[in-house]
Amino acid sequence: KTIIRLEHISKVYGAGNTEVHALNDVNLTVEAGEYCAIMGPSGSGKSTAMNVIGCLDRPTSGSYYLDGEDVAKLSDEELAHIRNRKLGFVFQQFHLLPQLSALENVMLPMVYAGVPTKERKDRAAEALTRVGLANRLNNRPTQLSGGQQQRVAIARAIVNRPVVLLADEPTGALDSQTTQEVLEIFGELNASGITVVMVTHEADVARKTHRIIWFRDGQVLHDRLAPTDLAQA
Ligand code: ADP
Ligand code: ADP
Repeated sequence: KTIIRLEHISKVYGAGNTEVHALNDVNLTVEAGEYCAIMGPSGSGKSTAMNVIGCLDRPTSGSYYLDGEDVAKLSDEELAHIRNRKLGFVFQQFHLLPQLSALENVMLPMVYAGVPTKERKDRAAEALTRVGLANRLNNRPTQLSGGQQQRVAIARAIVNRPVVLLADEPTGALDSQTTQEVLEIFGELNASGITVVMVTHEADVARKTHRIIWFRDGQVLHDRLAPTDLAQA
C-alpha cells in the first residue's frame, strides 16, 4: 500500500528576481512500513519536502496523495485534521511544553482529536511506556535529559496512531549514546508497522534506516536501499 505519493511536485518561493525553486519536479513514493532517511546538502529542499509531506505547506504544482487522499482537494481545516490524525511529527528541538508533565504533553494531540479524558491518560501512559518512560510520567521536560525529552516527543507523535512518523533531524541535538537509544526506538516502532521518514545529515543515522533518499537542488538525486548493518560487518 502506498502511503506517500508525490507526483511532479514543485515548490517556488518568492517571485521574479527572488524566485527560488525549492523543489523541482519531485516524484517519490513511500510504501506502508518503510523506514526512510532523507539526506542532502543545506538548501537542497529537504525541509520543503518534509513540509509538503507533512501537510504544513502546499506545493506550487504537482499532486500529493497521502494514504490515498488527494491533499490538494482538502481545505486548511481538513489538512489540520489529517496532520493530527494521520501524521506524527518529531523535531530536532523536542518542542515540548515546559509547564506540562510528560503525560500531559503526550495527552495534547488527543485533546485536539477529541479523545475522552480517561482514555487520553491511558493511551498517553501506554505511549510513554512504549518509549521506555513508564517511570517518568509526571516529570516536566526540565527534569528530563535530552534523550528522555525526545522520547516524550516520540510518544506524543505516535499517540494518535499515525500512518507516518515524520522526523526532522530528530537526533541533531543529541550525543551519540542518546542518538543510538532514540534510533532504537524508531527501529522498534518501524518494526511494529509504523512508516518512518526522517531527515538527517548524519550518515550513521541514515544507515540505520532501510532507504536513503538523497536531495540536491530541489530534486531527488539518488534513491536507494541503505546498506544493512549485516552487509557492513
Ligand atoms: P535546514 O537547512 O536545517 O533545514 P533552513 O535554515 O534551510 O534549515 O530552514 C529552516 C526554516 O526556515 C525552514 O522551515 C525553511 O522553510 C525556512 N527558510 C529557509 N530559507 C528561507 C528563506 N530564504 N526565507 C524564508 N524562510 C526560509
Ligand atoms: P534544506 O532543508 O535541504 O536545507 P530547504 O527546503 O530549507 O532546504 O530550502 C530549499 C531552498 O528554498 C533554499 O534555497 C531555501 O533558502 C529556500 N527556501 C526555503 N524556505 C523558504 C521560504 N519560506 N521562503 C523563501 N525561500 C525559502
